[in-house]
Formats: sequence, C-alpha cells, structure tokens
Amino acid sequence: TPRPAGRRAQKLDERLAGYKGVWVFVEYERGQVHPVSWELLGEGRKLADALKVELAAVLLGPPDGAVRGFCDQAIHYGADLCYLACHPVLKDYRNAPYSAVLTELVNRYCPEILLLGATTLGRDLAGSVATTLKTGLTADCTGLAIDPENRGLAATRPTFGGSLLCTIVTLNYRPQMATIRPRVMAMPSADAGRTGRVIEHPVTFLEESIITKVLEFIPDDRAAEANLPFADIIVSGGRGMKRQENFRLIQDLARVLGAEVGASRPVIQAGWVGADRQVGQSGKTVRPRLYIAAGISGAVQHRVGMDKSDVIIAINEDANAPIFDFAHYGIVGNAMTILPALTQAFTEH
Ligand code: FAD
Repeated sequence: TPRPAGRRAQKLDERLAGYKGVWVFVEYERGQVHPVSWELLGEGRKLADALKVELAAVLLGPPDGAVRGFCDQAIHYGADLCYLACHPVLKDYRNAPYSAVLTELVNRYCPEILLLGATTLGRDLAGSVATTLKTGLTADCTGLAIDPENRGLAATRPTFGGSLLCTIVTLNYRPQMATIRPRVMAMPSADAGRTGRVIEHPVTFLEESIITKVLEFIPDDRAAEANLPFADIIVSGGRGMKRQENFRLIQDLARVLGAEVGASRPVIQAGWVGADRQVGQSGKTVRPRLYIAAGISGAVQHRVGMDKSDVIIAINEDANAPIFDFAHYGIVGNAMTILPALTQAFTEH
C-alpha cells in the first residue's frame, strides 16, 4: 500500500507507534512444543534487541499444567514475558478458537511483529489471524531483519518457484506477520538463569460456537519417516547416482549411520524417492551435524537448503564441481565405489 502524505501520514505514524514488541507464537501440541518455536525465539531476540523492545512468547493450550511449564522454557530461550491462554477449547488445534484467542491477544496488547513457524499449524493459523486483523503476512520466510528506514520487519522468502528471493516490508499495517521455515534459524542456547513475567489471558470462547470437533488423532507415519529438517545426519544423492538401483547405495549408507535420506531435485523429478526428501530452495532446509552429498554438483538452489550443516562431505568424480567450494571435506571419485566402501567401513566400526 503506498504511504499517504501530509497529515494522514502523521496520523498513520501515530497509529503505528501504538504497536510495540516482538511476539513469537509457541506451537504447542499434545505435550510438545515444535522446535521451530525455540528457533524463532532466538531470532526474535535479535529483532527485539535491534528495535529495543520486549520479546514475548504466546502459548495457547489446555489447562493441564503442561503448557504453563513451557513458559519457563520460552523465557530461557530469550523471551522477556509470556502470554498464556489455557482453556479446554484449546486442547486440540482448531482454527476457530486458536485464531480468535490469538487475534484477541494482538488487539489487546498490540505487538509490532508476530512470528509463527511455517508448519501446517502455523500456516493455517497465521493466514486466518492476518485476515481477521487486516494486516500483512509474509509466508514461508527464510530470512528476517529490521528495515531501519521503516523501523519494521523485512522478511525474505523464495518466490517464482524458488528462482528469486524477495524481501517484503508491510508498511502501513501492524502487526507485521511472518511464518518462517523450520531449521532456517539457528537453535538458540537456553539460559536456565533467565527470568520473566507470565501474563495469563482469560478465554471466553465457547465450545458450542466451534463447528469442528476432533474425533480421533492419527499420527502421520510418513512425517516420521522423512523428518529431514531435524535429522542429525543426512546422506543425500544426486543425478550423479545415474539410476534408481544405484540410489540404494545412498540408502545403505544412511541405514548404517542412522541417517535420513535426502536428494537433489533431479532425483525427485526422476521419481527415485518421494518429494518429501528434496533438499534445497524449493524443497526442505536442513541443518544436520553431518551432510554427505554424493553425485550432487552443488547448484545454488541445492546449496541454500543445506549449507548451514555443521560438516559437509562431498563425493563427486569432478574435482571442479562447485560443491567442493563449500564442502568441509571432499572425496574426488566414483560414488558407486566410494559409498559401498564407506558403508562397509562404518558397519565394521
Ligand atoms: P547435476 O547438477 O547434474 O550434478 C550431478 C553431479 O554428479 C555432477 O557434479 C557430476 O560430476 C557428479 N557425478 C556424475 N557421476 C558421478 C559418479 N559416478 N560419482 C560421483 N559423482 C558423479 N535443486 C535442488 O537440489 N533442490 C531444490 O530445491 C531446487 N530448486 C530449484 C528451483 C528452481 C526455480 C530451479 C530453476 C532449480 C532448482 N533446483 C533445485 C535445480 C538445481 O538448479 C540443479 O539443477 C540441481 O540441484 C542439480 O542436481 P544434481 O546436483 O543432482 O545434478
């Protein structure tokens, strides 16, 4: 939206100045918090420090005590305070009550920035909250910064199928909202000595006004199988593996290392493994302790999804392959002989 001029601009500035603080929605489900919430508190801390404002965590859930326990953890990960709303209608995630309570909190306390994980739940919730608040939402971000000119959030995300990165600033509306991909931000270290406030928010939402009921909870086994973003070790294969039968060498090494299997885009396009294994700009972002890339050239679209791995080992028969420019260790040679040798060596040890 273009910025108005004159007195209208002044009025707008006054209205925007009424919004203060950075908020992170802490995603709680079935006794657990999604790790992306802690990553966002680490990043939120940096944004709040840059703006010289407070960082708040927002926790919604059932009144069973478990949710409250996570307030301390949120404070240890960098929050100054925690807004807590507990009520039976918030037991299982449903858009209507979650959306209503989060919107109510925002209207009452007026944060300038609101961050959520780009998870299934976070995407669903962010969209409806932004629509109700009539504010801007930048979805699926890979970078956050403060834009000094507008004293606001500059959120970066891939666009046009991943071929461009664009940075978006919500100018005339608050809060500025963003969802952020898991594993893009570093996990902060917890400081058990940090203390903060907990502000409890009463929930008045009635079960009778919700048109959905949760009848049964069925875990998605496939999600557990391809938990790439949070894997400690990943063995990835690329087009250099040549054929689907050869890709088994990647899976064999992954098995002995207790690793997840990853792949570059041509492997997904060839149908050798499922799309949930794709690493890169239009796939998953990963941050394992060890990333082994075999037969992968290191194109920028692959690199942006994995170059924050602690240790990268590249296996490629071309000594000039770009992946050797950023891998920590490189093996120049044929993946078809090197992978079985590694599998055997790790099996013996
Ligand atoms: P290649 O680039 O073909 O490299 C194969 C490598 O294997 C070569 O370096 C070769 O030397 C080596 N090799 C060959 N034989 C052997 C052997 N026997 N032993 C060892 N090494 C061998 N790509 C992604 O991976 N993820 C994405 O999310 C992604 N998103 C994209 C989004 C857009 C909009 C676009 C345009 C592209 C995207 N790509 C993505 C594609 C990307 O540009 C590259 O084409 C792709 O990463 C290349 O995959 P590769 O390294 O497996 O294949």
